Amino acid sequence: MNPDVWLAAVLGAALGASIVAIALRRKQRKEIIASTLVPHRTRQLLSVLQSGAVIVRRDRRAAFVNNPAAAIGVARPDGALLPAIADLAELAWKHSEAVEEEITVKRGVLGVTSQVHVRAVPLDSDLVLAVVNDHTEARIAEQSRREFAVNVSHELKTPVGALSLLAESIEEGADDEHMVRSFAGKMRKEARRLTKLIQEIIEISRLQGGESVLDYEDVHIADVIAEALDGASLTAESKNITLTADVKTDPMVMGDRDLLLMALRNLVDNAVHYSDPGKRVTVSCKTEDGTVSIAVVDQGIGIDPKDQERIFERFFRTDPARSRDSGGTGLGLSIVKHVALQHAGTVDVWSQRGVGSTFTLRLQEHGVDPEIQGEK
Ligand code: ADP
Repeated sequence: MNPDVWLAAVLGAALGASIVAIALRRKQRKEIIASTLVPHRTRQLLSVLQSGAVIVRRDRRAAFVNNPAAAIGVARPDGALLPAIADLAELAWKHSEAVEEEITVKRGVLGVTSQVHVRAVPLDSDLVLAVVNDHTEARIAEQSRREFAVNVSHELKTPVGALSLLAESIEEGADDEHMVRSFAGKMRKEARRLTKLIQEIIEISRLQGGESVLDYEDVHIADVIAEALDGASLTAESKNITLTADVKTDPMVMGDRDLLLMALRNLVDNAVHYSDPGKRVTVSCKTEDGTVSIAVVDQGIGIDPKDQERIFERFFRTDPARSRDSGGTGLGLSIVKHVALQHAGTVDVWSQRGVGSTFTLRLQEHGVDPEIQGEK
């Protein structure tokens, strides 16, 4: 080979090898930078957090996104980031300290929104850690508690106001024995309503407190039905309403007897209150595939379809005057719903205006326990 060609070949090979070596070194350096941006250990640590965690880069993209953050919808594993989080990260860099903000996140095709709390902490001049917590449920619970407190004070004002007016009237008409007796009777009625209201407010606060409040025991459902009907018999008699039981079995339920009795009493009382004289109220019970269904059937005034899903809300009444007149508090069905929930059961309604209503309470029959289901 010509020495010049030989030299050129050697030089070319050497140049090629050094270009490849430089490229390799660059690639390695890039990988090292990437892994030093968010080291493996840090990724592992952030991956086990329950809160969302996003590491934000200067270029407004995410260097790391843990699963909860992706689920909340603030960032994607490919680095795409919600602009509001990138803005917050810039603010954190600017002030060189942690900053916090509530952000509304829209998720999914339905555009469901959630309120998230974000705390952005600058880690160094290139990275910010954003910790994200979804507060939507807590906010709904808080709002519901606030509404409940407002409703309770409003509901308490009515009987208390009535009592004070009646007391004033008695004072003014003290000489008229007939009037005094009549007002005293009305005061007793209001006091009874107030007592019931206070008892039910305490009960519902306990039931919806979150933790289980059940005193578990074996409950004979036939006994509970008999007792509920017995408790309503005086009122039914005074309205000429016939109470009947259609109970051919005596299934057992593992639960809280007092709570189950209270729920059934509420259903039977309602059936009597919202029926005209001469009608019939029947409580039936059957078991099928391990489910005990207790149905309270009336031939009463019925409930409009638009109100049927609202009647289980606290203080909801279709006719407030009729409800108050019968000593109703608007809490009865809400208590029934919570008792069912506490027993992992359900309550639902079928109703037609002018025909009647059927409320069905479904509970798990004891001894026919379903498979334990659930996920960690
Ligand atoms: P209340 O103390 O007013 O009866 P509930 O929570 O027990 O409160 O019931 C809520 C509302 O549902 C009642 O005010 C009434 O309008 C309606 N309702 C409940 N049960 C019946 C029924 N059996 N027939 C017709 N309406 C009913």
